[in-house]
Amino acid sequence: MGNEKPKLRVGLIGTGFMGKTHSFGFAAAERVFDLPFELELHTVADRTEELARAAARGLGFKNATGDWRRLVSEPDIDLVDITAPNAFHHEMALAAIAAGKHVYCEKPLAPRAAEAAEMANAAVSAGVSTQVGFNYLCNPMMALARELIASGELGEIRSYRGIHAEDYMGDADGPFTFRLDPVGGGALADLGSHALATAEFLIGPIERVLGDEVTVINSRPDAKGGRTAVEVDDIGRAFLRFANGATGSIEASWVATGRKMQHDFEIYGSKGALTFSQERFNELHFYVAADAGRVRGFRRIEAGPDHPPYGLFCVAPGHQLGFNDLKAIEIALFLEAIAGQRSEPFGFKSGQRVQELVEAVHTSAVETRWVSTLKHVA
Ligand code: NAD
Repeated sequence: MGNEKPKLRVGLIGTGFMGKTHSFGFAAAERVFDLPFELELHTVADRTEELARAAARGLGFKNATGDWRRLVSEPDIDLVDITAPNAFHHEMALAAIAAGKHVYCEKPLAPRAAEAAEMANAAVSAGVSTQVGFNYLCNPMMALARELIASGELGEIRSYRGIHAEDYMGDADGPFTFRLDPVGGGALADLGSHALATAEFLIGPIERVLGDEVTVINSRPDAKGGRTAVEVDDIGRAFLRFANGATGSIEASWVATGRKMQHDFEIYGSKGALTFSQERFNELHFYVAADAGRVRGFRRIEAGPDHPPYGLFCVAPGHQLGFNDLKAIEIALFLEAIAGQRSEPFGFKSGQRVQELVEAVHTSAVETRWVSTLKHVA
């Protein structure tokens, strides 16, 4: 009896795309990892009682509510997981923190950097643990890339090129959704947040940015049968200067016809290079300049048990992890942080930092000048 794990009861707000992915993540994490807690999927909240009840049945939660405030004030819930649209993140997270809950929130952390800062500070004051959904950073091949860079195997980093391109907003007659909210919407906030998080995860702090943003589709059909003007970017780009002297760029686009998940990077150093594509995210391509000329070339490294925690999912290399597995890894890391076994891997301070970078790119694009970002580093 003495070996029983403490219970951690989860409340999930929002049961759409990410709500489902997080639910898969919780289920897989319990089976794959030796977690510090026994999880209980306690309650889901959505816009209506009906939606929540259907989701609770499908996703394996015990209770359902059409009022997220009831979920947040439920004394038995330890962890509030927010997968609702961006505009709600700030209010929901602050309420959960005030109620003493640990908070797991999808990116972008908040529509405005000041709100993200308020959330991060509130969590620190309350002594609760937090996490933002930067799942792509949980890929074992991303950890390998970071390790190769940090150990000097690429030499001096000369150039970084990152992109996150998809085409789900490519249809000019696609509906006006929360992703187009004039405050905090746009491709740069939605997808560029991932690209900027990856750039800093791999190369280190970004010192300044020079941004450019483009709106390609100027209006979209709205729920009232008309069209609403689009004020946010469909494509956002930035040149980057890193504090370590490396230079680079990122691009975010949701109108990249044909692209479904191009979260890619290329890194060129004095001794070697790395290339990666999320479309084939179980592979990392590594070039070593010192290799003998007749065999020199990019080698394709396939994910396997040598790349933890891959081996916990599958004993055989090359059999591949999937998108939902990255959420399971993200959840396991967060639970270890809650248990005090490690620091927060992507806490609200990281979410705040990414939001500040997004805002710096916006400012730069509007004012057509380089904008410093180093003063914000957490
Ligand atoms: P979605 O539209 O599929 O789901 C949103 C859910 O929130 C729906 O179930 C909706 O009914 C619910 N909701 C809306 N208002 C609510 C309210 N007032 N109370 C409770 N529930 C409410 O959206 P999504 O694609 O799942 O995106 C949700 C969040 O996840 C966004 O912040 C988005 O940026 C993020 N996201 C992250 C990733 C990633 O890879 N990390 C991928 C997609 C989306």
